[in-house]
Amino acid sequence: MDLKQWIRDVPNFPMEGIIFKDITPLLAHPPAFRYALGELEKYCRDKRADTLVAIEARGYILAAPLADRLGIGFVPARKPGKLPWEKIREEYQLEYGTAALEVHADAITQGQRVVIVDDVIATGGTLSATRRLVERLGGQVMGIACLVELSFLNGRRNLDGYDFFSLVRY
Ligand code: AMP
Repeated sequence: MDLKQWIRDVPNFPMEGIIFKDITPLLAHPPAFRYALGELEKYCRDKRADTLVAIEARGYILAAPLADRLGIGFVPARKPGKLPWEKIREEYQLEYGTAALEVHADAITQGQRVVIVDDVIATGGTLSATRRLVERLGGQVMGIACLVELSFLNGRRNLDGYDFFSLVRY
């Protein structure tokens, strides 16, 4: 299935010069959403994931139904100040300034097999920070999966040595 027909380009959002990949048409079209979930599910199954770690907020839309299909756990990586319990934080570079993500300190156990899920990889900074969070808690990053890869930004170079899967490439 050609998923690109369900992914909308929105120029200059959220700022001048960015072409935002809007996946809401795909989410609204059941055959496309189901197909995308099915492909990501196969990848996670192949990696024998014990748990999925997903990134706020669009990563959750994909990872929550995937975790349910796979019968495994779901761990949210959140923006600072949202998680209520003891947590750890990783900061990373954005084009302008820095950002940070947090996970609960007890969210992952030593040796757990983790697949990280997000909607879009651009520079790879977000996924790389999430990867560091997982490893600080003793998790093994078995794979990293995205719906959309902006391959011209070469975000994969930030994930060198890790297994990476994307469903739609630009
Ligand atoms: P990066 O850290 O540069 O790989 O950025 C990835 C994060 O920013 C993901 O959580 C995406 O949801 C979001 N993102 C970055 N660029 C885009 C884009 N062009 N369209 C949609 N989402 C984007």
